[in-house]
Amino acid sequence: MKSVWLQENKSHDVEEYLKHKKSIIVPIGSVEQHARHLPLGTDSMVAIKVAEEAAKQSGILVSPPLWLGWAPHHMAFPGTITLKPETLIELVYDVCKSLIYHGFEKIHIFNGHREANLPPLKIAATKLRNETGAYISILDPFYVAYEIGKEIKVSEPGGVGHAAEMETSHMLYIHPELCNLEEAVKNIQEKHRFLSHDPFVEGDTVFVPSDVALYREGALNIGVVGDPTVSTKENGEKYHKQLVENVVEFIHYCENEIEVDIRKKEIPL
Ligand SMILES: [Zn+2]
Repeated sequence: MKSVWLQENKSHDVEEYLKHKKSIIVPIGSVEQHARHLPLGTDSMVAIKVAEEAAKQSGILVSPPLWLGWAPHHMAFPGTITLKPETLIELVYDVCKSLIYHGFEKIHIFNGHREANLPPLKIAATKLRNETGAYISILDPFYVAYEIGKEIKVSEPGGVGHAAEMETSHMLYIHPELCNLEEAVKNIQEKHRFLSHDPFVEGDTVFVPSDVALYREGALNIGVVGDPTVSTKENGEKYHKQLVENVVEFIHYCENEIEVDIRKKEIPL
């Protein structure tokens, strides 16, 4: 293939690819506020970069990136665009159904938006798996790169939230030209122990959805939750490389070990 990106190839290139390979990565993110130091497109940019490198290393294709996700709480800040969760489920469903129709059997959804996109993505993936027989995985940095995240984290508990340590370090490595670290503000607030949202702090948790106005207030009217001030390009590089390595490891495992029996192929209508 001339490019790992599906949209940069010709239809007959894809036809040829499908004679030998059946896997593809679908990158998805979000366009939502990321405080004053990171761009709105951060989550999608992360997904695009990780998907592209993982695809190059494993020799598989990547679908056009899905730039938008589910981000209602970030609507407190201008520039954010959110899909309804039903729209996101349908979008992912239709994209994957189209790919399955052409012969793709193993679809790896790489989610740069972390936790917020997961409920709609899991619903779409479960429907697709059961209806078509295709193998669908969802790879999310918080979970697929948990070990390295925990190892390199330097902020205090509560330091990894939104536009915080981990994604700021990551962006300093992959898109330094779009970061403005001097504008980064620390925001770690005392909360009931059940309400901590730092994924690297183990403990009992309770889920309470965000309210737009309260979210804005809690994010200091800036949009940050956690501590981006300790972020470094070096840690971003370690995080990124391990993240890509883990995604590639999983793709290889699926290529070699997973048998797929497609039951149904149909055009989304
Ligand atoms: Zn983000």
